[in-house]
Amino acid sequence: MSVKYQCTHCDFTQRVRQEARVYEKEEPKCLRPICWLAWCHTCKKVVDAERVPTLRELEDHLESVRLEPYAERKLFAYWPPDEEIIVTQRYIEWRKNRVAPSRCFECGGHDVLFSTASYGDLPCPQCSGGMEAHITLIGGSFTRFAAAVYSLEGELITPGNAPEEWLMEF
Ligand SMILES: [Zn+2]
Ligand SMILES: [Zn+2]
Repeated sequence: MSVKYQCTHCDFTQRVRQEARVYEKEEPKCLRPICWLAWCHTCKKVVDAERVPTLRELEDHLESVRLEPYAERKLFAYWPPDEEIIVTQRYIEWRKNRVAPSRCFECGGHDVLFSTASYGDLPCPQCSGGMEAHITLIGGSFTRFAAAVYSLEGELITPGNAPEEWLMEF
């Protein structure tokens, strides 16, 4: 999967590199970093970034899954409700010990600006307009390749093995 950001007011477009990512020591069921696209002030481009929600956000998320199992949610929602409760509890445990703030996966820095959604609109660097994400699905999925492994603080330990041209294709 790859994503193209396109400004709605000018001709600015940008591809975003994405790949499968997991935290270490979470086998057999991996806890994955919560990945949102963001503007990185250091890289000066749209990047895939590790979003570290507040503990409160995660607790609200858990409450919302309990109250309205099938409602649409912003933080993450990939699982059937009973499984999502278990996963969210694991994220809560992780968050209690997590120190470092959200991080750019490209440069490892923390100066990232998130939209209100994982693939939400972001400000255009070329004009005053907004950029929208255009998601393109291409053959196969991330699961063909080994995921990049991160520490629970979001530091890269082992890079993934997906070829660069595949990650940037769309
Ligand atoms: Zn623009
Ligand atoms: Zn960066």
